[in-house]
Amino acid sequence: MKKLSDPRTTLETVSRYDFDFHKRFGQNFLVDEGVILRSLEAAGVGKTDVVFEVGPGIGTLTQYLSEAAAHVVSIEIDKKLIPILTDTLDGCGNVEVINEDVLKVDLPALARRYHAGRSSGLSPLKIVANLPYYITTPILMNLFRQKVPAQSITVMVQKEVADRMCAQPGGKEYGALSIAVQYYSDPRIVELVPPSSFIPHPKVTSAVVTMQLYEEPPVKAQDEALFDAITRAAFEQRRKTLVNALSSSQAVPFQKEQVKDALEQLGLSASVRGEKLSIADFVSLSDTLSALRKEA
Ligand code: SAM
Repeated sequence: MKKLSDPRTTLETVSRYDFDFHKRFGQNFLVDEGVILRSLEAAGVGKTDVVFEVGPGIGTLTQYLSEAAAHVVSIEIDKKLIPILTDTLDGCGNVEVINEDVLKVDLPALARRYHAGRSSGLSPLKIVANLPYYITTPILMNLFRQKVPAQSITVMVQKEVADRMCAQPGGKEYGALSIAVQYYSDPRIVELVPPSSFIPHPKVTSAVVTMQLYEEPPVKAQDEALFDAITRAAFEQRRKTLVNALSSSQAVPFQKEQVKDALEQLGLSASVRGEKLSIADFVSLSDTLSALRKEA
């Protein structure tokens, strides 16, 4: 099988099919075997694994996933890529391509179909993808919120997003995405990837990030929907104090005084901003407000 990681094979394939790259689908195809091999190693893809891939493109990463894993399910939105994939993945009998918008797929149901679960002892599920950058955050949030039973998620994202995913409290990169990623997983930047590793070259530097998902979050909120609403509201208007940000948000049903009281109970200043709070602080704040609601 001709490997699409060779830039000449990718160029020859897109020209043979007269394929037009669509910016709106974030189509930048990887042409760097080293990056692919190191991503697979970071993801720890092995012969008993089921892998879900988002956006196979013309099948570059998919060819390697097929060789490394037991089964690969690749979800691609662009129907023009489906006949190309049939050709480039000829001989990859363990790959199933689904022509869908990943944001509309019931991923937990798909995972159940492959008996993939941490406790079942069968087919560990891993997610590996060179993501379409325009929907990185919704894809990741969907995976977390839907509690897709994966062991790990290894993704190519824009470098700035990778920095936000791994950011610690106090800096300008720290925000709702950092909190969601680190609430559910232990993330690590594997490597930075230059624009020249893709066809066409994106305008930005990329990064591979691998996240080992926790079976249970180490600090768990009693009401995860409230915790989610609080962390998002806290950073929607980052310059506001936490009290003002939360009490002015439609999604957080608490008055200014209640938020102030909760912060006081936790020994935090009423003028604190969200960026200063750790994940454990946000969990405590969410639990305290949730208890207030029960008392009322
Ligand atoms: N995996 C290929 C590679 O590494 O060369 C292509 C990666 S390219 C950055 C992103 C891929 O995601 C494209 O093939 C694009 O068509 C696909 N895509 C974009 N939006 C999508 C969506 N909502 N659901 C599924 N696939 C999507």
